[in-house]
Amino acid sequence: MSNVAPFNSGASDDCDVLVVGAGLAGLTAGIRAAELGLRVRIIERGEGDHYLCNSRYTGGLFHIGMDNLASPPDEIRSRLQRVTNGEGRPELADALAENAIRAVTWLKAHGVSMIRVGPDGLRQHSLAPPGVRRTGLNWRWRSGDVMLRTLGANYRGRGGILQQGTEVSELLMESGRCVGASVRQNGVTRAIRAQYVVLSDGGFQANADLLRRFVSGAPERLLMRNAETGRGDGLRMAEAVGAKIVGTSSFYGHVQYRAAMTDGRFWPYPVVDSLAVSALLIDGASQRFCDEGLGGVHITNCIARLPDPLSAVIIMDDAIWNGPGKDWLLPANPYLIRAGGELITASDLNSLAAKIGHDPGALNVSVARWNDQVAGRKPFDVPRTVAPYKPWAIGQGKFHAIPVCAGVTYTMGGILTDTAARVLDANERPIQGLLAAGATTGGLEGFSRDGYSGGLSKALTFGLIAGETAYSALRKAA
Ligand SMILES: Cc1cc2nc3c(=O)[nH]c(=O)nc-3n(C[C@H](O)[C@H](O)[C@H](O)COP(=O)(O)OP(=O)(O)OC[C@H]3O[C@@H](n4cnc5c(N)ncnc54)[C@H](O)[C@@H]3O)c2cc1C
Repeated sequence: MSNVAPFNSGASDDCDVLVVGAGLAGLTAGIRAAELGLRVRIIERGEGDHYLCNSRYTGGLFHIGMDNLASPPDEIRSRLQRVTNGEGRPELADALAENAIRAVTWLKAHGVSMIRVGPDGLRQHSLAPPGVRRTGLNWRWRSGDVMLRTLGANYRGRGGILQQGTEVSELLMESGRCVGASVRQNGVTRAIRAQYVVLSDGGFQANADLLRRFVSGAPERLLMRNAETGRGDGLRMAEAVGAKIVGTSSFYGHVQYRAAMTDGRFWPYPVVDSLAVSALLIDGASQRFCDEGLGGVHITNCIARLPDPLSAVIIMDDAIWNGPGKDWLLPANPYLIRAGGELITASDLNSLAAKIGHDPGALNVSVARWNDQVAGRKPFDVPRTVAPYKPWAIGQGKFHAIPVCAGVTYTMGGILTDTAARVLDANERPIQGLLAAGATTGGLEGFSRDGYSGGLSKALTFGLIAGETAYSALRKAA
């Protein structure tokens, strides 16, 4: 039990910890604080039992850098260093490496089931029941949906208040300390005082203005491969009180079939990353524009940065379609076709160019140049990393094309925190009373190569730490 002095302002809404958002990060922070004896109020914009968020849509694989989160901390540290190209904050990597397995153990002890769904490190810790192997969006009664229901019930069982249909709009500050927030419900705004506010609103992927400011000149031409609930409120509110914002140019996402922009059958799965990392990826002028060998997340970011993100096309032959085209989870071959997608096919490059609206001369030159570079006869003009994703020459059997787009899952940069989840100011000093966790935070991932650390492990681990930080600070103050 806690020996924390109650925060006594007389108003019934006031609490020790006010949490913004009831995704994995927010519920974890809320439950942890509540079980340590604090009075917690979580404010969630979504309504009903199935309020949407990325934690509900999730694929459910808890990993760090696409590998096992239960690896020894030293191994995780060097993995993150490699994945982020040394750009992630080492102290945040340490905190994740040292606490991730403790956090997963905590999650299981709070009723969330996990299973192993494959032999590799990525698939050692999957939510149960796992997501179905089906294209399109399928979240009901599985994976993240079951996790959120379980955590919601656990939280309420501890007396925690989950206030839905309500939006946090502004932080309340007194003498440089955060002392609560303004919340809006049914058009009425009022203040709730709290000793600590935890920002866990899920990122800014669904905010076109912030995407334009940080990520892409044409945000309306990006695919929302997410629940569209991460609207950048946490970033905006934190920035307004002087928080440092880092790593905002990169997002986690996948290369998707372009028709997914308007057709729900094609997102979040299948993803076409395995083709993009092997074949020739060109823009509307038939030119290569990125190092495809750095992987699907990097390619997706490069597509988003094109002047027209809806101009990218993958060019391949039968060997690629029947080789890498069949790799990875729900690959394009055959799932894209089964879902109703079209593989644009021609027996020669001139006809293929006509079908995709490209200049035949430019496409022929690009394919010939690509084949020379893959064979080592000429150096790559746009640099190409060749391992672990080797480039494939194009020339066996028929030619094929798939128009693609950038699927934005969540933004990786955001509010900078320290290892205790405390929000830092421009001088990297904690802003008193303000914590942040999950996809709204930055600093763990890389930006020049868009290195991805893992959304669930970050949300869970730093959500847990945020709850503990609030508790230890208030206990000390009591
Ligand atoms: C299709 C898909 C597949 C994924 N697969 C994986 C995977 O296999 N492995 C992995 O590690 N990661 C995966 N991710 C990413 C991972 O699910 C997320 O990074 C993680 O769940 C984010 O949790 P969060 O709590 O930070 O944010 P969220 O779950 O998005 O929760 C944020 C909540 O805050 C609320 N909110 C926002 N603003 C306000 C406001 N102003 N006031 C009140 N409430 C507000 C929102 O409504 C939302 O409920 C996937 C994501 C998607 C979309």
